[in-house]
Amino acid sequence: MDAKVLLVDRTQTYRNSVAAILAHAGIDTVEAETGATAIAVMRQTPCDIVVIDNNLQDTPGVDILDTITQENKKARIVFIVEPAFRAASDEVFCHEHNIARLIRGPVHPSILAEFIEDLVTQKSAQTPSIKAPVNTAEVPTRNEPREERVNVHVMAVRRSYQQKLPQELKNLEQALTRARTDPTDQSSVKEAHRIAHAMHGTSGTLGLQDISQATGQIEVALKRIMDGAPPDTAWNNIFRALKLAQTSPDRSSKVEATSWLSPLATILLVDSDRDTMADVEAVARKNLINIVTAENSEQAVALARKKKIDGAIIDIQVNGQDKAFELVQQIRSEEGLHHLPIAMMSVDSSVLNRVAATHAGASQFLQKPLNEDELVETVRDFSASQTDARSKILIVDDDEHFRAHVATLLEGNGMDVASLGEPEHILETMDLIKPDILLLDVVMPKISGFDVCRLLRSTAAWKNTPILFLTGESDPTVRLECFQAGGDDYIEKPVIKEELLARIGVRQERIRLFKERADRDSLTNLPNRRAFLEMFKIRVADSKRYGRPLTLCLMDLDKFKQINDTYGHLAGDRVLIGFGKLLSSRFRTVDIRGRWGGEEFAVVFYGEESRTSKLILSRVLEEFKHLSFEGDHGERFSVTFSCGIATFPQDGTTFDELFRTADEKLYLAKESGRSRIEI
Ligand code: GH3
Ligand code: MG
Ligand code: MG
Repeated sequence: MDAKVLLVDRTQTYRNSVAAILAHAGIDTVEAETGATAIAVMRQTPCDIVVIDNNLQDTPGVDILDTITQENKKARIVFIVEPAFRAASDEVFCHEHNIARLIRGPVHPSILAEFIEDLVTQKSAQTPSIKAPVNTAEVPTRNEPREERVNVHVMAVRRSYQQKLPQELKNLEQALTRARTDPTDQSSVKEAHRIAHAMHGTSGTLGLQDISQATGQIEVALKRIMDGAPPDTAWNNIFRALKLAQTSPDRSSKVEATSWLSPLATILLVDSDRDTMADVEAVARKNLINIVTAENSEQAVALARKKKIDGAIIDIQVNGQDKAFELVQQIRSEEGLHHLPIAMMSVDSSVLNRVAATHAGASQFLQKPLNEDELVETVRDFSASQTDARSKILIVDDDEHFRAHVATLLEGNGMDVASLGEPEHILETMDLIKPDILLLDVVMPKISGFDVCRLLRSTAAWKNTPILFLTGESDPTVRLECFQAGGDDYIEKPVIKEELLARIGVRQERIRLFKERADRDSLTNLPNRRAFLEMFKIRVADSKRYGRPLTLCLMDLDKFKQINDTYGHLAGDRVLIGFGKLLSSRFRTVDIRGRWGGEEFAVVFYGEESRTSKLILSRVLEEFKHLSFEGDHGERFSVTFSCGIATFPQDGTTFDELFRTADEKLYLAKESGRSRIEI
């Protein structure tokens, strides 16, 4: 299809997701973040379809619809508006502004992509419509098995949701009836609004367009009633919409999904306020983020134990302030969750709250009400830090069911899995996926697993990648051949879950040890200078991209030479170890700490200014001062440190510039008496 689509939306993740799905369907996309860029693009590139969100940073989308039409009279416009968007009549509004489709958002990227594909293929149908094309076609067969699996997963979720639908609709009807009979009953209106809101979102995400549409209308009408609009006609519309939902074919499980993307991340949201939860869920859904919710600490810990989550967002007020900080430490102390990224949120973003949250180990601090971009950015940080830690496994096997089976099994155990059915594409796939471990079938059509293995072993980049053969042959000569071809291990089919996990575990452990040895300082177990610098570069790039500050803090232990001389070199080592432990157990996972060399350490606080960084480190200095160390002859002593802080971008934008400033401030701290922090 040689159609070109211009996609105007303020959220980059969202644009990327839609563009990715469209690329799959052979549709070219150009993107714009603001209205101004959109118009500039229109002047340069002829676009057939313009998809534009009303909520843009520089202008309401509605204000530039006519300019877009002036630029290209033939362009067809898809306009996405907030659920409460009002026009005297949708049809007239669409006609006046040349809108081919009006969509009340939030709309899932895959569903929006479907709308667009639909427009591209049915060029003739120009009737404005707010109804989604219900596509009951079979699931298209695509090459990515991952997508197939996610599809299966989504369908399973949808089926279970469909089973709950009649009850949900009944609850909604009851709340609506109560609210209508007693106009003073505010709580029923609110309850109905909450149910409609949730149903609108969930059913929309799961592709149940009719239900989503109807409950969306109910939601909007209820909101108007809550805002004091005259209720008479509103109620008629509400019950008409309810009737539509109750009779919609969406309730039957025959409706199939057409395409899907895997979620960006799964986030645990802990908040006792339902409105916030609903808001966050709506934004999250639009951006491919899964949300699981807990209303209190007990639920939160139970969920964190049970579910595979990529991060948590916790309201400070969840059970009184101290409980929230406790909860962070509690979650962090669970097996496998030591490094779980956690954000705290509060309406009160005072410096003290931020400092306390950081000290407790929260990865981010978010101000309520949450801003969409900030939320998405936080989750992106979360999943980036988690993805780094997760192993990537590539399965090469011609048996599709076997691939799907093993993939599900490994994904269930926290691994990222890709799979390939045609071994002839091995080199491109390796380049694309860069797996940590390869699982390789022996007998495949065209090329055997042995040949694939030999090919990879002769390629510099894959010489050392662990390769595990999977084969149905139990003949000892096959086993020998596996090793001769350059394989690292051999697993017989049918694979037994425990054996597969154990053998992969051995490889993972070896990779981890190898990496750690190269990246960590052996005394303090903190990243060494080289690793620190590498991580620093990534953080600075993030700061530049997202326009957030960052601080580089250099710390140097005071009079350390004297400590060594007085208490012995081993005692000095114990101090270094102790300080390393303190640094690694405080702060957030996004903050980088390292041993810069000798008795010098460095920390980078992402998203913080110098003033907050100073407060955070003051608490650490206070703690450190009170630690008591033992000299080589049993004497007790304590140590202090001095610190200099430089801030990006005020003090510089490169490491060298920032380092110079931080070093100058450190010198100043030493000069003015030590045990101090200078900014
Ligand atoms: P200042 O307060 O000005 O920083 O004084 P200082 O004595 O700490 O500074 P100086 O740079 O003169 O001395 C640093 C000392 O740190 C000298 C060195 O022996 C000691 N040191 C460096 N690395 C290690 C280590 O790994 N173990 C031990 N025990 N000492 C170390
Ligand atoms: Mg020094
Ligand atoms: Mg020193």
